[in-house]
Amino acid sequence: MSELEFFGHIIDNEEVESIDGKRFDVWNPYTREVWAQAAEGSAQDADRAITSARTAFDEGPWPRMGRNERAKMIHKLADLMEERTTEIATLDTKNMAKPFEQAKHDVARSVWNFRFFADHQRDHVGEVYPMDSGHHTYSEFGPAGVVAAISPWNFPLMMASWKIAPAIAWGNTCIIKPSEDTPSSVTYLGRLAVEAGFPPGVLNVLNGYGHPAGSSITGDDRVDRVTFTGSSTTGKMVMASAATHLAPVSLELGGKGANIVFEDADIDNAVYWAVEAIFRNAGQICLAGSRLFVHSSIYDDFMAKFKAAAEALPIGDPFDPNVKFAGALASKRHFEKVVSYVEGAKDLGGHFHTGGVATDGSWSVTPTIIDGLALDAAPYCEEIFGPVCIVNKFETEEEAVHLANDTRYGLNAMLFTENLSRAHRVASNLRAGTVWVNCFFIRDLRTPFGGVGDSGVGREGGNFSREFFTEPKAVVMQIRR
Ligand code: NDP
Repeated sequence: MSELEFFGHIIDNEEVESIDGKRFDVWNPYTREVWAQAAEGSAQDADRAITSARTAFDEGPWPRMGRNERAKMIHKLADLMEERTTEIATLDTKNMAKPFEQAKHDVARSVWNFRFFADHQRDHVGEVYPMDSGHHTYSEFGPAGVVAAISPWNFPLMMASWKIAPAIAWGNTCIIKPSEDTPSSVTYLGRLAVEAGFPPGVLNVLNGYGHPAGSSITGDDRVDRVTFTGSSTTGKMVMASAATHLAPVSLELGGKGANIVFEDADIDNAVYWAVEAIFRNAGQICLAGSRLFVHSSIYDDFMAKFKAAAEALPIGDPFDPNVKFAGALASKRHFEKVVSYVEGAKDLGGHFHTGGVATDGSWSVTPTIIDGLALDAAPYCEEIFGPVCIVNKFETEEEAVHLANDTRYGLNAMLFTENLSRAHRVASNLRAGTVWVNCFFIRDLRTPFGGVGDSGVGREGGNFSREFFTEPKAVVMQIRR
């Protein structure tokens, strides 16, 4: 076997082993081989990382330096990421079988996260409120302190950058714990921060399992903010852990996105986005359009085109440029979870238009389209997080909105119609953090991002991130006596 790569913790600008020397294996889910090892963080390693971030915040230059200087350093990191796009994307592709073209796109999105928040903290410093009483009040947004960030494996670099970028841009110091399934690109990012000249302790990477590494940073009273993306179940644990020391939390959790196709939709456009929404990244997207509702008058036409498009997707080696969407799922554990839902759908009498084929050899599930399931069936109600779309018919707009909202999740929804009034009316009636009309997955970083119900707590993006990652202060000043 060729020599394995190693990803250590990055603490105080040093890449280190765990104190007890423990490591865990890192798998390539496409080849089903171990290709690297990572340091397995313990509570003692978490303590080292928190001490580093705390010292850097309390005594170091980062929160005290000028906004321009901080922005310059973050842009330098973004420059390095851009230069190393191929290397970073290769890591995410090896680590979770993300198609390489998509992984490169994720690097570009991550670069943009850093550039956006570097500029945002410089340009949105506060507001002034003149008062009739002869005073004026101004707001100040000072850094909150030490941020604990826990990121998932579906967009390893991008989800981490979505947390790290606003945290450090606003002058905080940070400890990021990537998923144990995908430690590589985030560790590489930590190395680049050192190369970019970040002061020690500003960005610490702690590798290891959710417990003890993750739980040790969320539950420590030296941590001032906790930001987490992952499952709703773990999100509740993270919130409880942060509550022990009253740290505000931002939680971006699961989803069961509704996608409504009305009878007046541009069907080809709706099919294009329905495929994107459930099969991109092999459906391992919290925003996936996993519940599809199609008007009965266009149902057969739509389903024939949707099935043909799903069956035309090349599946296979993620480094093959033709493979843009799906392939192996991110881990054996996750493959088994998705398969259990597919088997469950068969047992519950689901009608498979296509897919449902699991190949244990490659940990992949073919793009799957199912209808005929009851509205309380587990595959319809629960987050599968795989390339599995559950379809239903509807007759009226009211029924479509009711079906879409009848879930404990509320991260996002999509609707397809050429009727302008209907588009606005339905968008307004959907209970979700983001609604896409005639499109999917388009983001403006200034807008709020987050979900309702079991999909999360809080919003991030633009000023919403500013409010979470800072301690806003009001200063009241008399200007007329
Ligand atoms: P988890 O929610 O368990 O993991 C997400 C992150 O949290 C990982 O970094 C994990 O570390 C960490 N973690 C786990 N337990 C704790 C804890 N007690 N304290 C602090 N951090 C913790 O998701 P899974 O990876 O187990 O995936 C399960 C399901 O979650 C998926 O099938 C999918 O439905 C959903 N999911 C949703 C995501 C989203 O984007 N909203 C992203 C990923 C998953 P570790 O990996 O070491 O366990």
